[in-house]
Amino acid sequence: MTKKKKIIILGAGLAGLSAAWHLSKKGGEYQIFEKEPEIGGLCRSKKTSGFTFDCDGHLLHFRYPYTFNLVRQLLEDNLVEHQRSSWIYAYSQYIRYPFQANLYGLPPKIIEECLLGFIEASRNGLHVKKGPDTFLDWIYRTFGKGIAKHFMLPYNAKFWTVSPKKMTCEWLDGFIPVPCMDHVVEGAIEESLRQFGYNSRFWYPKNGGINALPLAFAKRIKNIHTNCGVERIDIQKKEITLSSGLKEKFDYLISTLPLPELPQIIRGMPRETAKLFNKLKWNSIFNLNLGIEKTDRTKRHWVYFPDEDFCFFRAGFYHNFSSSLVPQDKSSLYIEVSYSREKPVDKNNLIPAIKKDLKRVGLMGEGDTVCAEDVNDIKYGYPIYDEHYAAVRSAIIKYLAKNAILPCGRYGSWRYFSMEDTILDARHVANTL
Ligand SMILES: Cc1cc2nc3c(=O)[nH]c(=O)nc-3n(C[C@H](O)[C@H](O)[C@H](O)COP(=O)(O)OP(=O)(O)OC[C@H]3O[C@@H](n4cnc5c(N)ncnc54)[C@H](O)[C@@H]3O)c2cc1C
Repeated sequence: MTKKKKIIILGAGLAGLSAAWHLSKKGGEYQIFEKEPEIGGLCRSKKTSGFTFDCDGHLLHFRYPYTFNLVRQLLEDNLVEHQRSSWIYAYSQYIRYPFQANLYGLPPKIIEECLLGFIEASRNGLHVKKGPDTFLDWIYRTFGKGIAKHFMLPYNAKFWTVSPKKMTCEWLDGFIPVPCMDHVVEGAIEESLRQFGYNSRFWYPKNGGINALPLAFAKRIKNIHTNCGVERIDIQKKEITLSSGLKEKFDYLISTLPLPELPQIIRGMPRETAKLFNKLKWNSIFNLNLGIEKTDRTKRHWVYFPDEDFCFFRAGFYHNFSSSLVPQDKSSLYIEVSYSREKPVDKNNLIPAIKKDLKRVGLMGEGDTVCAEDVNDIKYGYPIYDEHYAAVRSAIIKYLAKNAILPCGRYGSWRYFSMEDTILDARHVANTL
């Protein structure tokens, strides 16, 4: 690469930081502009009353040695490995995750329904030539009617806020474990400790919350300008305007900004192109963090709540990721509620509703004192992969690339990306320059 290329990176979340880090390694020049006073994006952490809260639970999973080594290199000895202890609250009890391999403990009728459905689906699967069309088809075809009815459909409709019928399978990529018949049967007749899926282990910083990761990147890169939101991109002049009014020229713009925001920022976008952005769909996550005056000895990491009767779809336990996140003899939780245009929530009453439900499922006692509270209302949670997703996203990315804008990261690339995927996506973009 020639050093003369002027590269601007928009956003200093993991994507922007990883892009900068990988550019530096090649000797590239860049400037990063971040609108918030702090770097890290979704990987920021806050300290309050002795608690460290992340912006919702953020755990590191690795599929690739490259990212594992990079994160270890960045965090040095500030990284601890955990064996996942994740659970599901179903039919008034806690069973282990994944549901499909841990039916033991559920009412016998439900176990029977799930097992028979799974056997039938496995038999039918042998005769199916064509891949599934929708996520709903995939669920029925992979797990059968019982598991679909008692977990997969209610949980996914609650989490995504749209019916699995309206979703494609492009995002699956191993996220949902598919156990074999032996393991399903084994988990139905006794409590199984077998681990499933690539994310059965995870890593987390010993100190500092997940923010330790972006901070470790930032220590090794330069030219990060915080409090510098980008307000306008002029593709003709190849120039951005910052919130201060300052203008900067670019040869290439690496954008980690959420895609749906771009039509308001890019000057002169053709109307037909701007219309495409209206087809992008996502859910939002309301995250409540609570510090509680009591010790929790369960050692659980997180729990899924498929039942619509509880307002949250998941709750996790920071103190079980690292004891440094809580003062002694206290515990802390993150609670996640999903919502969207299709499925709005009443935010005015949400916190009391969450606390009420936490008591109903036994995660809070009547007498427990909440000593710290923190809210993150995450507008862009998960991009929704519906029938328009692939064509619309591809047309948008093509338009941006034609104008020297290289989108990257979870919201820039508009994909269901983990932190690891985000780091890798940014490396890929940096390497194309
Ligand atoms: C609820 C939730 C839980 C998650 N849990 C996990 C997990 O457990 N494990 C995991 O691996 N991944 C998890 N992820 C995914 C992970 O958060 C992302 O992959 C990663 O943080 C995305 O980084 P990013 O840089 O692409 O985006 P962001 O972190 O959103 O960064 C974008 C940056 O751009 C800045 N910006 C926005 N507009 C402007 C502007 N106009 N000008 C300048 N800057 C701007 C923002 O302030 C932000 O700093 C989770 C995501 C969510 C939503």
